[in-house]
Amino acid sequence: MTTLAWTRRRADELIGAHLERWSFDFDHARTRVGCCHYGDRRITLSRHLVLYLTAPEVDQALLHEIAHALVGAKAGHGPAWRKQAARLGYTGRRTIPVPDARRQARWAARCPRGHEYLRHRRPSGKAYCSICAKAGEWHLLRFEDRR
Ligand SMILES: [Zn+2]
Ligand SMILES: [Zn+2]
Repeated sequence: MTTLAWTRRRADELIGAHLERWSFDFDHARTRVGCCHYGDRRITLSRHLVLYLTAPEVDQALLHEIAHALVGAKAGHGPAWRKQAARLGYTGRRTIPVPDARRQARWAARCPRGHEYLRHRRPSGKAYCSICAKAGEWHLLRFEDRR
């Protein structure tokens, strides 16, 4: 997992190495990781989703968008973009996978029998494994902050 501060440093580094007069910012998207804003020469990444990416995944997302910036909007994800992206070291696909719910959940607990529970918000009060409870075993769930 990464931090916003790290992501911004890394973005400035990569954009500085490959582009001229382009800037970086965060956006609030939840359904896509990155975006290339050709008009105002800006690359943005989702402040929500980058937190669930590994450092190499952030690099890949940035290279994907930098390739867009280099070849222009008309190229789309066509051959020119693919060639440029590969030259930069991008190994992913035409779309950057959005981290799934499992990776996005901040709180996780596992009962002694291995049943996993995920929560987006800090769980309040006591919770027991509901699967084991059906069999008459009461295992208290201890949620850990994965961030
Ligand atoms: Zn793209
Ligand atoms: Zn269980």
